[in-house]
Amino acid sequence: MTAEPTAEPTTEPRPGVPAIEVRDLHKTYGRHEVLKGIDFHVDPGQVVCVIGPSGSGKSTLLRCVNRLEEPSAGEILIEGVDICDRRVDLDEVRSRIGMVFQQFNLFPHLSVLKNLTLAQRNVRRRSRDEAVEVARQNLAKVGLSEKESAYPAHLSGGQQQRVAIARALSMNPDMMLFDEPTSALDPELVGDVLSVMKDLAGDGMTMMVVTHEMGFAREVGDKLVFMDGGVVVEEGRPVEVLSNPRHERTRSFLSKVL
Ligand code: ADP
Ligand code: MG
Repeated sequence: MTAEPTAEPTTEPRPGVPAIEVRDLHKTYGRHEVLKGIDFHVDPGQVVCVIGPSGSGKSTLLRCVNRLEEPSAGEILIEGVDICDRRVDLDEVRSRIGMVFQQFNLFPHLSVLKNLTLAQRNVRRRSRDEAVEVARQNLAKVGLSEKESAYPAHLSGGQQQRVAIARALSMNPDMMLFDEPTSALDPELVGDVLSVMKDLAGDGMTMMVVTHEMGFAREVGDKLVFMDGGVVVEEGRPVEVLSNPRHERTRSFLSKVL
């Protein structure tokens, strides 16, 4: 491949490059270095699960990937474009990255349908009819067509999280980031959310999932990344990492959660 040093940053997807690539990422809060040189990548269509103890930097990593946090050093390439470059249009980059949080973050004063159409109208500039059509397609995908007029407070946690996933999908993102999407849910509601995520993976969505659900990681993940103390301790095929961890720190963590 020939280098083009004068080329402007482009936001067109480039074939053959990772969807997400993180190179030597550091993040410091005051004197506290939370990420100490993270390297990893997610290929298009891959599902990468990230596990690790509380405080190891998983959320910070995810938030750096869509620039909710500013990295202190290192590079983050989204579809080959360094999003730390000042010339990059961050809103445009973020519109290609769907994000789902532990706390569903729905707008409480808006109906489910309005939650799904708002950003489509304001950011994607879709007509009302088109936004509603896309919203209904995605509500059907998460099994909640009959809830379009409901308000978030009248839904279970699992239903709210499925609405949050449908809302993110309604922006037609190229990839989805999940930060412990089932950790706030009652145990009996976890399965429905995981099953929606599994369908999404089956449809070929590129996904980065911070989770404690080892069954999901094993069954759906293409790669499992174990973080501890702001570094990637090890990564590999989920079945390998889970059944044959190479590092003592991974073994010790898994013995507590499995
Ligand atoms: P995890 O998601 O793995 O539990 P986090 O990324 O949330 O870890 O946090 C990693 C470390 O960074 C923790 O010690 C946390 O206290 C610290 N941290 C996270 N966000 C901030 C912030 N905005 N300011 C200061 N410290 C933070
Ligand atoms: Mg976290």
